[in-house]
Amino acid sequence: MSTVGADLTAVGVFGGTFNPIHNGHLRSGLELIERLKLDQLRLMPSAIPPHRPTPACSAEHRAAMVELAVMGEERMVCDRRELQRPGRSYTIDSLEELRSEKGPDFSLCLVMGCDAVRDINSWHRWQKLLDYCHVIIIARPGWQLPLAGEVSAWLSDNLQLDGTVIQQSPHGGILVEELRPQVISSTEIRVMLAQGLSTKYLLPERVIDYIHNYNLYK
Ligand code: ATP
Repeated sequence: MSTVGADLTAVGVFGGTFNPIHNGHLRSGLELIERLKLDQLRLMPSAIPPHRPTPACSAEHRAAMVELAVMGEERMVCDRRELQRPGRSYTIDSLEELRSEKGPDFSLCLVMGCDAVRDINSWHRWQKLLDYCHVIIIARPGWQLPLAGEVSAWLSDNLQLDGTVIQQSPHGGILVEELRPQVISSTEIRVMLAQGLSTKYLLPERVIDYIHNYNLYK
């Protein structure tokens, strides 16, 4: 891991389908910003997720909901780059783009839930990820990190115990952060909406209004 001195600008990237975005994503993102002193968190909707069926809800709608959700919180922005790129939305391509836009001397942090980490070895060029970014893993209730196999070895080889690594080095470390558990998932919200149940307090009101205005998830 390269070290270039203290106080690098730190930018987080939180990718997902956000189908729809909910308070679990938002609260976890905010806690990470404050705990790790991130200057910005970029929520990056995946247009064509490589590892799951493309959501019925369009990427345009999903990104619009992310934009509504972060209104008023200036440390969070929606990054639409995967909607603008043709083909499958490979995370490493987005990291590469950000790295070439912003240069080598800033800290880039890829945020993911620990459910997403378990099959990270099926991601396109996964072994190159740490050449571009740090990886921040959110410990989610009910999930465990792999204890054996190549993902487990990758985790233990690169695990950092001190979060200040983010300001001191532009990429190369893995952190596991236990945040306030938010037992909310987009799947559950879609099921509730399909059943006509209220999703109030699970996601921002503005996003709920958008879902109703566009008749999504019926
Ligand atoms: P789905 O139920 O459709 O799989 P999801 O709620 O897991 O959706 P995604 O958009 O797939 O949401 O997740 C994007 C990222 O956010 C993933 O890394 C996932 O682990 C993380 N994440 C999702 N829900 C939470 C939550 N409640 N708390 C913390 N992280 C979460």
